[in-house]
Amino acid sequence: MPATRSEAGAEVAGFNVLVGGALGGQQPELARPLDVFVQSDSVVPVALAILEVFRDHGPREQRKKARLKVLLGQWGLERFRAAVEVRMGAPLERAAESATRQHGGDHIGISPQRQPGRSVVGCLVPVGRVSGDDLIEFGRLAAEYGTAELRLTVQQNVLIPNVPDEFLGALLAEPLLATYSPKPSPWIRSMVTCTGNDYCHFSLIDTKAEALKLAGALEERYEIDEPVRIQMSGCPHACGQHRAGEIGLLGDRKRVDGEILDAADIFADGCLGED
Ligand code: SF4
Repeated sequence: MPATRSEAGAEVAGFNVLVGGALGGQQPELARPLDVFVQSDSVVPVALAILEVFRDHGPREQRKKARLKVLLGQWGLERFRAAVEVRMGAPLERAAESATRQHGGDHIGISPQRQPGRSVVGCLVPVGRVSGDDLIEFGRLAAEYGTAELRLTVQQNVLIPNVPDEFLGALLAEPLLATYSPKPSPWIRSMVTCTGNDYCHFSLIDTKAEALKLAGALEERYEIDEPVRIQMSGCPHACGQHRAGEIGLLGDRKRVDGEILDAADIFADGCLGED
């Protein structure tokens, strides 16, 4: 996580290190603070040292237990950090002041940038799937209206940054933005799904198609103002982070009247971090 400390009156930027997070399985855990601060040139060596400690000491002989969180549970953070320091050959700096700022937004829509007269246009990619042709078209729009840059977000959406105000109208009228809308329905706006059974053999259901059907059905029945975070995973590996959703859905198969049907286990009120 971004962090800063001061040195001789100057601000030194770097990162606080967290380890052992895993949202899948029966006992999901958030990553724990290792109480270590690294500057950018030490990120790779420290990450390697962490991996090497896990490689040499982690319970890797049992696939289900081959997780850093399991080793941390056995050792505790102090012992783990000491082992990383031995691997680095020097003590590591303790954690510095967090530089993260709370941001509850999703960048969908038109957001003015710090640079005067420029905006970023955030386009909703329904359930996070975009075709190759459409991605190429996004590239054309970015070149024509922006600075030939695109940003992809963790919510699986596409941002076109650096659009001058005078180009906004023409960009918003582009046909591609009818599919990838900067003003989507609140039911689909915060929906996240994992790959599903199109591309992942673990998936018990077609998460993308089911999520689209669900969003459409909810939109028909209920009018809401604020988006609801609906997150769906096709199996307990939890790539859709279903436990973090306000509504979480975990794909399953159930026998009903002798017939095996697609199904989902329902989770509610999930979040990441303190809120
Ligand atoms: S959650 Fe499971 S089904 Fe979905 S992408 Fe991950 S491994 Fe595949």
